[in-house]
Amino acid sequence: MGEAMDCRGVDLSGAEIRGDLEGRNPPIFLPRQPAASPLVALDIGGTLIKLVYTASCEGGGAGAELRFAKFERRRLQECFDFIRAKGLLGCNGTRSGKENVPLKATGGGAYKFSDDFREKLGVCLDKLDEMDSVVSGANFLLQNIPGAAFTHMNGQRNPVDVSPNNLFPYLLVNIGSGVSILKVTGNRKFERVTGTHIGGGTMFGLAKLLTGCKSYDEFLQLSQKGDNFVLDLIVKDICGELVCQKQGLSTSTLASSFGKVITSKKRLTDYKPEDLASTLLSAFTYNIAQIAFLVASLLGLRRVFFGGSYIRGHKSTMENISFAIDFWSQSQMQAVFLRHEGYLGALGALMSYGDLSGENLTLEESKEKEPHHESAAPVDGILSDEENDSNIFPYLLVNIGSGVSMIEVIGKGKFERIIGSHLGGGTILGLARLLTGCSSYEEFLELSQRGNNLSVDLTVGDIYGEEGYPKIGLPASTTAASFGKVNSSKLSDYKIEDLAAALLNSFTYNIGQIAYFVANLSGLKRIFFRGAYVCGHEKTMDKISRSLKYWSKGEVQTTFLCHEGFLGTLGAFWSYENMGIDSLAAHEVIREVLLGAPYTGQFPSLPVTEQQENGENNTLEGEIESLRNNNAALKAEVERLQSENAELRAKLRGATL
Ligand code: ADP
Repeated sequence: MGEAMDCRGVDLSGAEIRGDLEGRNPPIFLPRQPAASPLVALDIGGTLIKLVYTASCEGGGAGAELRFAKFERRRLQECFDFIRAKGLLGCNGTRSGKENVPLKATGGGAYKFSDDFREKLGVCLDKLDEMDSVVSGANFLLQNIPGAAFTHMNGQRNPVDVSPNNLFPYLLVNIGSGVSILKVTGNRKFERVTGTHIGGGTMFGLAKLLTGCKSYDEFLQLSQKGDNFVLDLIVKDICGELVCQKQGLSTSTLASSFGKVITSKKRLTDYKPEDLASTLLSAFTYNIAQIAFLVASLLGLRRVFFGGSYIRGHKSTMENISFAIDFWSQSQMQAVFLRHEGYLGALGALMSYGDLSGENLTLEESKEKEPHHESAAPVDGILSDEENDSNIFPYLLVNIGSGVSMIEVIGKGKFERIIGSHLGGGTILGLARLLTGCSSYEEFLELSQRGNNLSVDLTVGDIYGEEGYPKIGLPASTTAASFGKVNSSKLSDYKIEDLAAALLNSFTYNIGQIAYFVANLSGLKRIFFRGAYVCGHEKTMDKISRSLKYWSKGEVQTTFLCHEGFLGTLGAFWSYENMGIDSLAAHEVIREVLLGAPYTGQFPSLPVTEQQENGENNTLEGEIESLRNNNAALKAEVERLQSENAELRAKLRGATL
């Protein structure tokens, strides 16, 4: 870029956080940075504008410090006023101090509001790619600022020592309005692996509608005082305490977020905002953590860094994420947080002044791409006429009950629960009841048919403008954050049909995405869906199929098992028996526990696939050994349950005779 000739960068040597070791977004001291020519960079996201700038140090003295500020995107004018008041205009590292020097900016708003900056501030924006900037900002913090990263678990916060030697590769989960998940393998070396439309915008949007809260901090405070068990269905609620004990299940395991609402007569106003807030926080935080865990497993990564303003230094959020990652990975993965979590993009943009690191982060430049992670091998066509019972295996069985359970079926009577999700049918209907007042799933589906989700969903076009974000293949019409457009805290400002449409989209696509990751992880090419929330509901089935088609690029075959015994695509007769799950489907307890509830705490850890560095072979061997043991134990358990089932059947026959 031409301007770079006249532009100074940031001198990072000796950068550190001084004083306050616990506080949020503390200034970063740059001992060799001149305070006289301030720098400013912006990240204009879907919800917030984040600003990083250099200023003279608080107590005077040599050097400068990096400071941080944020504004709501809808209050752009406040941001302009701030930039003017702080004297940050026309000083963008240029020796001349002339105005009209480009100001570094990233995020979709850099494109969308470019003209506003020119007209109102007389400055043009040098637009930088969002993903490049986020990675650059994270790498800057991790490599230059001691104490920038920490773990937060069981009430304890511990600094994480990261050096360039042990930093890469890592997974970066940036939770903003939506969520972007990136595999970072070096400076400027990364791949955006995936993302989800269920992010901070979704949680905060629903929080406004359900609790009436006006600010994010108010919502977080409410959640601290609430009890999620008032609305959440836990394993004990499904199978009772005794059965839980017998099956060795944790009674308090979350089975279905908002699942209790569907059997209650209470209406939205009968619930305490605190309890609603607490349920929302755990529902969305666990979902994001689960997706992060699945992606990290797929990529064989053990360290997952979480960024984005969603986290906001909030202890329960970090606790939930850490607990979930530790639980699912059986302590093989670590969740790490960053003190300046919300400012990764803005910091990355600031780093590009003067191109000091040899990095040119502009959009025009082609970036070194990591190879795409291999997805599951393509299915070998549809089932053929010659299909016999045995080649249906292995497959993934996804049961959508109140929660979602995912079971790998490898042969007749040979199945293993892999994982589940607490965002299932109970969540959709529970939220539908609260938001629309509908009294049945059918009524909800009917409402959704007439609604337009775009009045509440935030699209890539809303953030970036009509061009969308082509660099990562996101057209303007893609949903960036379900419910992310909700600004009002008054439920009556929205049409119930639109809310229903957004609900159906967001949760069915989420189930499809998770099922795809699980199938991919287990190398499964076929997924069968069953359960009360899909069967007989064309719209739900259609959305799940679309989701799978989108995520797997058509490589995974999706079938709906709507009743016991039916004809497959080309005439093969599939019954629970020849699908190998008759014992599973027939046994009431197993049906409830294995098919109904998501986290039983009993699934084996998912394999970490990438070769690990020195010394990790032992761990891997140990893991394989423990997987073998788990497998043997699970087989024994299945056999025990099968014989118990046979005994019960015999008794039943005896009793009826
Ligand atoms: P984006 O770049 O998409 O704006 P951010 O990383 O800034 O994303 O995160 C936005 C999310 O952070 C919101 O959706 C919300 O969940 C949360 N958040 C944190 N602080 C605030 C705030 N003051 N106002 C609104 N949302 C906030």
